[in-house]
Amino acid sequence: MKVKCPTCGKETEYSPANRWRPFCSERCKLIDLGAWADDAYVIEGEPGSIDRMTPEDVESAARYTAEREVRRGSRRR
Ligand SMILES: [Zn+2]
Repeated sequence: MKVKCPTCGKETEYSPANRWRPFCSERCKLIDLGAWADDAYVIEGEPGSIDRMTPEDVESAARYTAEREVRRGSRRR
C-alpha cells in the first residue's frame, strides 16, 4: 500500500518494513515531530525558543521527546 508522506508528499510504502511510516524517512518524521514539539517547548518553559532552533536542535528535541515517551511506557512493568 502506498501513501503520501505527510511532510514532503512523496509516495512511500506503508508497511511494517517502513519503520518511518507514514513518512518516507526519519527526517520527514522528525520534521513532523518538530512541528508539534513547538507546544512541548512552551510547556518546558522556553516559549518561542523553537524559532531560533537549528534543524539539528529540532531533531534532538524530537528524539528526546520520543525517548522520554518510551521510558515512560517501559516503567509500568
Ligand atoms: Zn517525506
